[in-house]
Amino acid sequence: MKSPSLLFSLLTGRCPRCRKGPLFESAEWNKPSSWFAMHKSCTCCQQSFEPEPGFYFGAMFVSYAFNTALFIAVWITYSFLASEFSLFYLLMLMILAAALALPFFFRLSRSLWIHLFVPYGSKSEKR
Ligand SMILES: [Zn+2]
Repeated sequence: MKSPSLLFSLLTGRCPRCRKGPLFESAEWNKPSSWFAMHKSCTCCQQSFEPEPGFYFGAMFVSYAFNTALFIAVWITYSFLASEFSLFYLLMLMILAAALALPFFFRLSRSLWIHLFVPYGSKSEKR
């Protein structure tokens, strides 16, 4: 079987090494803690998904960049659609958008972060 592309693997949260095993446990809409639960290692190739303690600290900065882009998008959209500018409503919209995007950005930033450090097809580094 042909393995998925880097982009597909990154966007769908697959293991960066084999691009098959899922990084995250399946999310249930009525159980918010499941939106953020990660597997300890790959179910296909046993690649560790936490290579060292605090590995995902850097993913916070990726998430910060995503949120900045989201805030700018909300600001521009609000400026076009609102007849009267209100800082209060703009901030409320930004908070709402950030809250709705949180699980998505959490998974995407962690996926991007581990894809930066674990190359495709590399040998396992057990620690
Ligand atoms: Zn794997």
